[in-house]
Amino acid sequence: MFRLTELSEIDLNQLFNLSPNPYVILDRELRLVGMNDAYLAVTGRSRQELLGRNMFDVFPSEPASVPGRLLRQSFAKVLSTGGVDHLPLLPYPIQGPDGELEDRYWSATHTPIKDEAGKLVFILQHTVDVTELHLLRSRSAGDAGLQFHTDLMRRADAVQGQNVALGEEREYLRMLFEQAPGFMAVLRGPEHVFSIVNRSYRTIVGREDLIGKTVREALPDIAGQGFYELLDEVYRTGTPYSAVGARVVLQPSESVPPEERFLDFVYQPIRDRDGLVSGIFVQGQDVTELRRAQEAARENEDRFRTLAQSLPTHVWTATPDGRMQWCNDQIFTYSGLESFYFDRERRSEMLHPDDSPRIAAAWGEAIRVGGRLETEIRLRRHDGVYRWFISRAVPIKNAEGEITLWVATNTDIDEQKQTESELSSLAETLGHRVEERTIELERTQEVLRQSQKMEAIGNLAGGIAHDFNNLLQVITGNLQLLGREFAGNEVAERRLNSALAGASRGARLASQLLAFGRRQPLSPKVINLSRLIREMDHLLRRSLGEAIEIDTIVGGGLWNTLVDPSNVENALLNLAINARDAMNGQGKLTIELGNVFLDDEYARHAFDIDVGKYVMLAVTDTGTGMTADILDKVFDPFFTTKPEGKGTGLGLSMVYGFVKQSGGHIRIYSEPGNGTTVRIYLPRSMEDEDLVGENASGAALGGDETILVVEDDEAVREITVSLLAELGYRVLRAKDADSGLAIVESGVPIDCLFTDVVMPGRLKSSDLAKRAKERLPHLGVLFTSGYTENSIVHGGRLDPGVNLLSKPYTRETLARKIRQVIDQSRQAPSPGLPESPPEITPVQPAVEQPSAPDLPIAVLLVEDEALIRISTADFLQDAGMTVVEAGSAAEALAAGGSQTIDILVTDVHLPEMSGLQLALKLRETLTDLPVIFATGDRNVPGSEELGRTALITKPYDYELLTTRIRSMVTPRSGG
Ligand code: ADP
Ligand code: MG
Repeated sequence: MFRLTELSEIDLNQLFNLSPNPYVILDRELRLVGMNDAYLAVTGRSRQELLGRNMFDVFPSEPASVPGRLLRQSFAKVLSTGGVDHLPLLPYPIQGPDGELEDRYWSATHTPIKDEAGKLVFILQHTVDVTELHLLRSRSAGDAGLQFHTDLMRRADAVQGQNVALGEEREYLRMLFEQAPGFMAVLRGPEHVFSIVNRSYRTIVGREDLIGKTVREALPDIAGQGFYELLDEVYRTGTPYSAVGARVVLQPSESVPPEERFLDFVYQPIRDRDGLVSGIFVQGQDVTELRRAQEAARENEDRFRTLAQSLPTHVWTATPDGRMQWCNDQIFTYSGLESFYFDRERRSEMLHPDDSPRIAAAWGEAIRVGGRLETEIRLRRHDGVYRWFISRAVPIKNAEGEITLWVATNTDIDEQKQTESELSSLAETLGHRVEERTIELERTQEVLRQSQKMEAIGNLAGGIAHDFNNLLQVITGNLQLLGREFAGNEVAERRLNSALAGASRGARLASQLLAFGRRQPLSPKVINLSRLIREMDHLLRRSLGEAIEIDTIVGGGLWNTLVDPSNVENALLNLAINARDAMNGQGKLTIELGNVFLDDEYARHAFDIDVGKYVMLAVTDTGTGMTADILDKVFDPFFTTKPEGKGTGLGLSMVYGFVKQSGGHIRIYSEPGNGTTVRIYLPRSMEDEDLVGENASGAALGGDETILVVEDDEAVREITVSLLAELGYRVLRAKDADSGLAIVESGVPIDCLFTDVVMPGRLKSSDLAKRAKERLPHLGVLFTSGYTENSIVHGGRLDPGVNLLSKPYTRETLARKIRQVIDQSRQAPSPGLPESPPEITPVQPAVEQPSAPDLPIAVLLVEDEALIRISTADFLQDAGMTVVEAGSAAEALAAGGSQTIDILVTDVHLPEMSGLQLALKLRETLTDLPVIFATGDRNVPGSEELGRTALITKPYDYELLTTRIRSMVTPRSGG
């Protein structure tokens, strides 16, 4: 035996070389790094041939062959476990000295050689040639004893075959174990000694040398982190333990900083055959990266949520396909939703149903293009009120550009929206109003313009007619004078007559113009137009021809109206003829009569309409109609679209003037191609119709009956008396009801009582009428009044049986009315009262007969038109009157102050002072001076209230003037 000290002096290398057993040293890559001489001898190779070369390069063996596989498995085992491995029998042919391959059998031992850190660095292979032994065993199969050997060897072979198979399997499992991505280790015993560890485990703990060490020895850096204790616990209780994301801090050596890792793992107790815990299987994986990513994500999300919650707007997220995923508290508060998940239904109901399709489309588009979304939506608040929001969504994309999330906000813009819509509706209504007002203004201006135009043209036409009449006056006057001189000269008379006819045509024209200028004398009567239309039926049919159908529609209970019937007839005829012309003699004419109430609304748009009740006369045709252009001018005098000789352009002008003068108005509605409607509105009258007798349109009829005139106004009384006397009646007069009654009671025969309604005195006119009627049952009674709303009018109607003549009245109206009343009362049945014959006390008739020879009548003739003045004066002087001529009011006044004058005949339109003013001035001294106004106009405004006046229109007939003068002057006796 060597002593230790001596042993250390032995050259181990030499010893290694000297050993008869072959040895070879391999590094971890199985390269041959050293061998002894025996090895060289056995393998028959030199060192140079072998050193640095891979074992399997120099001794090729198929990995699938038995020796190839066994060798490789053995090396792998040593490398992974760090333990020694034996190969009991390895068939491996090598080259003999003759160069021939020779079957040989080997037994091999592989021993790991480790460095100081315990890391395997080399493998030592020790081979023993067991060929002889093996052959000996095979050979001994010859005798009995050999039989046993043979069996043994066969079994050994079989076992070895099985071992080989098992070894293969083991190697396979070992490889799986080694290469498994998760970490794995098997710990044995209560001290948890590492018996198997795979690569993953070694990597995580950062160590290679674990086998054979306890956990506490191998991994001192995890002390105090609870893992040792856990293992102890698992080992003790046999209960597996699993951890998710467990934190571990590792520091394999002092030179590296400690590292934090997160692990998911299982400690699975391993039990032996008796069920006792013999070890622990550790398996798990490193989730550090995942965990870090999760943590980062969570941190991000936390930050996002904190931010989202702190915003005043709604914030929410949606999945890539646009479904809501999360929302902030503001949405809950607003909507009243309580849970994001359970209120799915209600969440979708937040959206206004009208917006849904639009939003869905917008989302679809945003998802398709992967762009941002911005849209206005209405969202329902918890109380059911919808408010406007602007909803914006931004896509969040990953590195591949795929949308992973949508982040969206809803901002309340309801107030903005409200103001916006208020503003726009304000602007709109403002616009509307301005428009309306403008239209109204334009219309009003148009109406004003039209009415001003008509006024102006009317004045012009009236003026022209006036001058025209003056001229005609001169012409006719002189023609008449000439007529006397040429009396008997047939040729001259014929010429004079045709000249007079021309002048009278001119006069007609002038009168039409005067009608337009509203200056024609009207004789208004209370009439019911339905009767008038009926009476005109025949005339209309004749004028229109057979091809035109006439339809007359009269509304029930048609009101009465106060108009001059002949003017209405004239107007209707004019309209009908216009219609005929427009229809080319073929079509339908509709005449309509009805009651209408024109209200404020209607009147507002016109200047010439009073609110009130009217009788409407409408004439509609199916003719050509008119363009707006024509419609604008139809009332203009002389405006016509008809050919020369067919139209005068005065028809509608006349109608217009007449309607205006009657206090009504006229409207025309027409459209080209659609016909025309002319509507005339005439004011309603509350009075009964003036029944017009057979001779209504004929000359005024007088009579010889006795009439009692009761009238407090002396002037009116006098003119009435003279009018009635002129008509042939016997006239009695009284200045009030009492004196009227006295006359009645005196027993004088009276046929008609004509009394004013309102008079001073004890007795009322109605009482007078009653008492007179008692006395004279056949007495006709006619009231007259300047008013209508008084004692005899009740509820807008005259008491039955009462006749009323409104003031002012014309001679004609008076004559007709008186005649009518007398005739009525004659026909009326006797009231059956006892006729007490009255005491007759004759009263002097009012109209006295002239006596004594008359002086010639002195006429003051005032006329600025010299030609007229001269011819008129000539004529009057011819008629035996004396004429004082004056060319102006001043001259007339001078004459009036110095000479005797019986009557004033004056033109109305005089340069400095009007004829009326002159008359009034003269009457200051000559109180009863009769006055005749000779004028081209048809009335003298302001003269209505004057007594003893008359009107004679130019061009006048000299004979008529003479008669008129005579009737008005009470002849002065020559004495
Ligand atoms: P005249 O009939 O002489 O032409 P008016 O004053 O009666 O004069 O009419 C003036 C114009 O108004 C006519 O020329 C015609 O153009 C038009 N007019 C009048 N009435 C009608 C109507 N019923 N249909 C179509 N146009 C009409
Ligand atoms: Mg006409």
